[in-house]
Amino acid sequence: MEEFENKGGPGRTELEKIGEFGLIERLTRDLPLYHKEHTLKGVGDDAAVLRIPEGHVQLVSKDLLMEGVHFDMTYCPLKHLGYKAIAVNLSDIAAMNGKPLQVLVGIGVSNRYSLEALEELYSGMRLCCERYGVDLVGGDTVSSRSGLAISVTVLGSAPEENVCYRSGAKENDLLCVSGDLGGAYAGLLLLEREKREFLANPAVQPDFKDFSYVLERQLKPEPRLDMVELLARLGVKPTSMIDVSDGLASEILHLSKDSGCGFMLYQSKIPVDAETCKALDMFKILPEVAALSGGEDYELLFTVSQADYPKIKDSREIRIIGHAVEAAQGNYMVPEQGTLIPLSAQGWQAFANRRPEEAGENGEGGEDREAGSFSE
Ligand code: ADP
Ligand code: MG
Repeated sequence: MEEFENKGGPGRTELEKIGEFGLIERLTRDLPLYHKEHTLKGVGDDAAVLRIPEGHVQLVSKDLLMEGVHFDMTYCPLKHLGYKAIAVNLSDIAAMNGKPLQVLVGIGVSNRYSLEALEELYSGMRLCCERYGVDLVGGDTVSSRSGLAISVTVLGSAPEENVCYRSGAKENDLLCVSGDLGGAYAGLLLLEREKREFLANPAVQPDFKDFSYVLERQLKPEPRLDMVELLARLGVKPTSMIDVSDGLASEILHLSKDSGCGFMLYQSKIPVDAETCKALDMFKILPEVAALSGGEDYELLFTVSQADYPKIKDSREIRIIGHAVEAAQGNYMVPEQGTLIPLSAQGWQAFANRRPEEAGENGEGGEDREAGSFSE
């Protein structure tokens, strides 16, 4: 993560000093455009002017992230936060089997944040946009009484016939997933543990060696746009697809409900990285539990028809983890031995460890701490 190294401590310019227009000017200065033929005008007018690629349909998605609910400033560096805010939106376009082209970014900021802090946030956003060739074409900037809110809208496109919905899985289709699961949750557990230790004794430096992979999975997820390309190269169109933001169990149930089928998930096939297992072991959490309920892995979960099996069987990035069955059969995890385990979208409640919003910490001094919050 060398491009994320802290490049020395910047000063602190108060936002009142430069005003809204000064801030927008600084944040949007020299934004590159990677799609000149589709982005006719980016930042700088009352609206951006875009052209949808010929023969494509438009894909649009939005995410809103609230400090104290979706991220915690005590362990989420601003540059990573900026990167992640863009990345999770690009993941939604990947999950539709499309290509992202532009993003819009709305921010609500309290006076707790300086110009330099917001520039740090934007440097992460710019880095993600650069890596995936996406144009940042506009946004809005408002002041907030409490912390930071970041809203990203992503615009993408795909030929209509390529679009993958959650609703197309058919009985006997193979259930597949990209990459590996549970890592982002393992990273969160480590960061929360370090936070507790830091609050108890600020002199102690975190010891994160040997855990760079899981930390990166939590702090800097990558959208699997490479999978969209791989599937196209293999000549495979998934019958249904979703990105894994809330944990495998919850996403399988989404595909099940929208497609009108059930799923059998083979426990032994759930891919979990060795470092993830090692980290989870410290917290006495089973790898499958983290994969099923941990969330934020941003891998792609999809179904393909049996006829496409020869095309995907040799791909290391695609794991076959189950198959679709009749709706009446329900959704189960199949262990190597013993009885079937029903899948439920327990999400985070399944864990003794609390999510950031329950930890009640607001970071950066936290002067403008909110009274309460509702969960996602
Ligand atoms: P308006 O008053 O029409 O809303 P603004 O002054 O808010 O215009 O914005 C000026 C330009 O800067 C617009 O092109 C807008 O899209 C862009 N912009 C404003 N805030 C942001 C932001 N946080 N990030 C990126 N672009 C922004
Ligand atoms: Mg505006």
